[in-house]
Amino acid sequence: MKPFPRAEIRLGALTHNLRQLKTLAPESRVLAIVKANAYGHGLLNVARHLDGEADGFGVARLEEALALRKGGVKGRVLLLGGFFIAEDLPTLVEHKIDTVVHHESQLEMLEQVQLDTPVNVWLKVDSGMHRLGFVAENFDAAYQRLLQCPNVASAVQLMTHFSRADEPEQKYTEYQLKVFDDLTATLPGDRSIANSAGTLFWPASRRDWIRPGIALYGISPMTGDVGSNHGLQPAMELKSRLIAVRDHKSGQPVGYGGYWHASRDTRVGVVAIGYGDGYPRNAPEGTPVWVNGRRVPVVGRVSMDMLTVDLGPDAADAVGDDVLLWGEALPLEEVAEHVGTIAYELMTTLMVRVAVCFE
Ligand SMILES: *Cc1c(COP(=O)(O)O)cnc(C)c1O
Repeated sequence: MKPFPRAEIRLGALTHNLRQLKTLAPESRVLAIVKANAYGHGLLNVARHLDGEADGFGVARLEEALALRKGGVKGRVLLLGGFFIAEDLPTLVEHKIDTVVHHESQLEMLEQVQLDTPVNVWLKVDSGMHRLGFVAENFDAAYQRLLQCPNVASAVQLMTHFSRADEPEQKYTEYQLKVFDDLTATLPGDRSIANSAGTLFWPASRRDWIRPGIALYGISPMTGDVGSNHGLQPAMELKSRLIAVRDHKSGQPVGYGGYWHASRDTRVGVVAIGYGDGYPRNAPEGTPVWVNGRRVPVVGRVSMDMLTVDLGPDAADAVGDDVLLWGEALPLEEVAEHVGTIAYELMTTLMVRVAVCFE
């Protein structure tokens, strides 16, 4: 018997999505973003599968980068948040890991350290996110310091990150592009701007390297949209099964707090997944769950190990039947909207209790 709950990862969908994004940006190389355990899909399995097909990988933490190298991943690896302490710099060199430089403190560490080989640096422009990166006034000085630093490989690569690219009507993305281009137009080195939303919605942002994350996993970054609108396939199917099917009388409550009362005699199904697996506890009544070819609503409170659904008075569903929480038949984007969060959060907060299976 297959374990449940389980996240079935379709490696073929990852390849498909990567190729789909390459069709959109044929001139760009692809830095596949695999931070946060490849958005919950399994860091090493995803990266090994895409190694070669993607030109490199983006991660947030040094531990993630080292896991890729220890796992035999050959492609370029970029530390998106940069290094945090000087002691990490020799490690970057040893394992051929590129780093983002986004802050003055990193320039100082680079200038003071002794390295055998220079490290490959992506200088980050703060074009409007105002989180990481050098603002226009400080950019030239930072760039010159990197050029002069013997611990930094030439050429310095250039990057920035969008804050509102998932809003195609928003002028702010055009503003960010202009800030970046005004600062970097005359400089050598590769450029990287586009995340998934940039890649999908802002053709002008597809430069030497695109950095898709969520789209690689088949999910749209835009509210009200789904990946299939862009020819993407969801890579994760979150599945469990019915562990009880019960006759439920009109007026009876279900679950902790007794929040929901049936308005008619019905059948209630109990699904073996809960917030202890990472299914959101705040999923409200009506959040869809896919059972035997139809959507049925969550009713009552999601508990730690299970949740309850209203299967309807005539339901023929039985204990042991498969349940899909999200996947191809039930888009994660739709579930996230019911819950009042984003698909990113739901896929990255699955717990270790969920078995991850690769197909
Ligand atoms: C996470 C991240 C991405 C990928 O973002 P998506 O919206 O998932 O495509 C790209 N660039 C940087 C710097 C990131 O931190």
